[in-house]
Amino acid sequence: MVLIMETLTIRTENKFRSLITKQAYKKGEVMYSMPSENIMDKPNRFTVQIARDKHTHVGKLAALNHSCDPNVVLDTERMLMIARRDIEKDEELSFFYPSTEWEMQAPFICLCGSVNCIHVVAGARFLPLSTLENYYLSKHIREMMIELLNNTKAHLKKLQKV
Ligand SMILES: [Zn+2]
Repeated sequence: MVLIMETLTIRTENKFRSLITKQAYKKGEVMYSMPSENIMDKPNRFTVQIARDKHTHVGKLAALNHSCDPNVVLDTERMLMIARRDIEKDEELSFFYPSTEWEMQAPFICLCGSVNCIHVVAGARFLPLSTLENYYLSKHIREMMIELLNNTKAHLKKLQKV
């Protein structure tokens, strides 16, 4: 029998949920398997995008808040949550939403206070490459970004020919 210890806990304060780790992790360590409970073709405020047209409910991980200086990354190819830096016991976990989300259903203003704060969190398509390149990005986000750039280039070429 494999004993799986529950290492994550959800804290609720004034209806605001956050995800807390009950143990410490080293940078690069696998922390959790991402659950995939209900795959849909449209995002909502509880889903994580795992491919171009796939959005999934992720159980407890739905309580992960956004940060522009996050401590975890979601590897949507292997469906794993990984420590982006050393994390202490009882720390709140957060990830960079645009690393998985191309266009969010419910954009919001970020007040994380980080020096790199992007302020408007609406999805990767609304961010410049110079910002995105500072973050781990899911494969589908990298692909969609390249596509967007190629389309823009093609469009510019067309304009030049006129
Ligand atoms: Zn921020």
